[in-house]
Amino acid sequence: MTRIDKLRNIGIMAHVDAGKTTVTERILYYTGLIHRLGNVDEGNTVMDSDPREEKRGITISSAAITTFWQLEGNDHKINIIDTPGHVDFTAEVERSLRVLDGAVAVFCARSGVQPQSETVWRQADRYEVPRIVLINKMDRQGADFMRVISEIRQTLQANAVAIQLPIGSEDAFEGIIDLVKMQAWIWRSDDGKVFEITDIPAHYQQAAEQARSHLLEELSLVNEEMLEQFTTQPLAITEDLIYRALQIATLKRQLIPVFCAAAYKNKGIQPLLDAVVRYLPSPVGDIVAPFAGLVFKVISNDYTGKLALFRVYAGVLHTGDTVLNSRTGKKVRVGRLMRIMSDKYETVDQMGIGDIGAIIGLKEVRTGDTLSDPVNPVSLGSMHFPEPMIGYAIEARTAKDADRLSAALSRLLDEDPTLMVEVDPSSGQTILKGMGELHLEVVLEKLAEDHQVEVNKGQPQIAYKEVFTQAVFHKEVYKKQNGGSGNFAEIHFELSPRKDHLPGLDFINEIRGGAIPREFITSVNKGFETAMRTGVIAGYPVRSMQVRLIDGSIHEKDSHAQDFEQVALLGFKNAARKAAPRLLEPIMRVDVTLPEEFTGPVTGDLNRRRGIIKGAEIKNNAQNIQADVPLSELFGYITTLRTLTSGRASAFLTFQDYQLAPS
Ligand code: GDP
Repeated sequence: MTRIDKLRNIGIMAHVDAGKTTVTERILYYTGLIHRLGNVDEGNTVMDSDPREEKRGITISSAAITTFWQLEGNDHKINIIDTPGHVDFTAEVERSLRVLDGAVAVFCARSGVQPQSETVWRQADRYEVPRIVLINKMDRQGADFMRVISEIRQTLQANAVAIQLPIGSEDAFEGIIDLVKMQAWIWRSDDGKVFEITDIPAHYQQAAEQARSHLLEELSLVNEEMLEQFTTQPLAITEDLIYRALQIATLKRQLIPVFCAAAYKNKGIQPLLDAVVRYLPSPVGDIVAPFAGLVFKVISNDYTGKLALFRVYAGVLHTGDTVLNSRTGKKVRVGRLMRIMSDKYETVDQMGIGDIGAIIGLKEVRTGDTLSDPVNPVSLGSMHFPEPMIGYAIEARTAKDADRLSAALSRLLDEDPTLMVEVDPSSGQTILKGMGELHLEVVLEKLAEDHQVEVNKGQPQIAYKEVFTQAVFHKEVYKKQNGGSGNFAEIHFELSPRKDHLPGLDFINEIRGGAIPREFITSVNKGFETAMRTGVIAGYPVRSMQVRLIDGSIHEKDSHAQDFEQVALLGFKNAARKAAPRLLEPIMRVDVTLPEEFTGPVTGDLNRRRGIIKGAEIKNNAQNIQADVPLSELFGYITTLRTLTSGRASAFLTFQDYQLAPS
């Protein structure tokens, strides 16, 4: 087993098109895992092995790949966990952030920080993931290393500091300057395997010295030892000290080291791998025993069956071990363990602390499940997933498909925790809910291609909510007393909008002097919580409300806890109609980047969709427009945008807030 300090679990995160797939592919090539360079544009790279991904040119759900890299005579194991760049797949991003210890954030040297890079960056902040930055596509026209660094500093408020300088730019990009060792790397062969490490070219000497002293200054701001050396003997600062200071600062996220490359031109990848090993953390915090692991992805595969990708957080897992799934409470036997090596799997007999691999043959397993030693059960905590915003009613096209539909859906639900299936109580229809149009489109394609189930889908349905706009006072009595033991509950309450507008129920108990005993008040609270799941306008959940319980009464013999839950349910129904209920609709923030000449038609279209323009600016010769638009007006937006701009615009949608829908 690899020693834990020689292990790196990393993710590569990027805006779609920044070059994540190409960078990953090159990493696998230089680490010797693959022997031929693929090409994203021809759709034959390893990470893009799902045909759906090739079609869209985006990486949706590749798994985790293990590879090895040698630095200064030591072998290091690197597990690369794929993080998709498209926002409709946030769940995938979240689950991978959860299991990695560090990340390489890839930016395009020309487009710099884009709205989507910002979202992914903030998610990584939330999970406190230490990061290094790679500014890729240094060979592109308009590439500007320093400009992108200052954008990262400004827009992302991150302390990005250059650890390298590019030698040449655009067509003339030929190598990098290492500001720690003060050496130049110049690539000499097309496949990037031959490079020369040499003196810094004379005309870069001054720029390199400046950049190095900036780096040392930044390090002395966060590292005492460095500060001491910097102020007393700056010339005696050793490489080792810089490496150590950089590693600590990266781990604490006080500083983000920045590197450059042109992955497509095979330049800059080997020093990036050195940096992954040098600066990104190992899973040192993990515990020695007993075993605990988290399943971060489930893949159903016709050849192997169900594959559960997991990370070991404590101890060691062996083939044949019995583990407890904390969600199901069941003990299961681990039949086969595997490590994923690009396109092939390698069977192993154990998986050590901090490591990432796959278990084959677990039946009831879902993304987010904790597996642990049955004698020392733990739960590693569930992951945070946003609520689905849209849904389609679906039905199988043929009777034959109908039988297979529910089995196929249940497999998809195991794989994807942001997917929901509900049955509409009024129509009996099956509703498939997800994060967005693209997400659901991919799911329907999976149904057809992987499970051979063809479905018809209805109009898209929006996740509306309901809310009250007026306060009402209401008295409700629930009474069943006709001889023998009966039921009785009475409450007086005010139903109103919440003052703080936060989601959920704000329940205020104002009963003094025990008109209703405490245990029954808990039941009233519970009753209102249940009641608000179904609003009175169209049965959508009530997003937010306040209930002030003012008075009430009980019957000595006939009052039970359930009666007080019941009276709250009834009281809610009757009061809600009088409290001026309104529909709330989800509003999306739309970020569009487009060539300036299309500004007119694109803004016009946003206005027609009830959009409110929130901002517009010109950046890197492109117009950026931000608008808040109701989700219900956004179906087919991407297609329209493509038509309006001859395919030259890109848009990025995130959930913003709920707002009152026009009545
Ligand atoms: P992803 O969407 O982030 O995975 O990006 P890809 O790796 O699929 O790359 C997107 C496009 O950029 C493809 O057409 C690549 O060939 C191209 N590309 C990637 N890296 C570079 C680079 O270093 N220089 C140039 N000029 N193009 C690149």
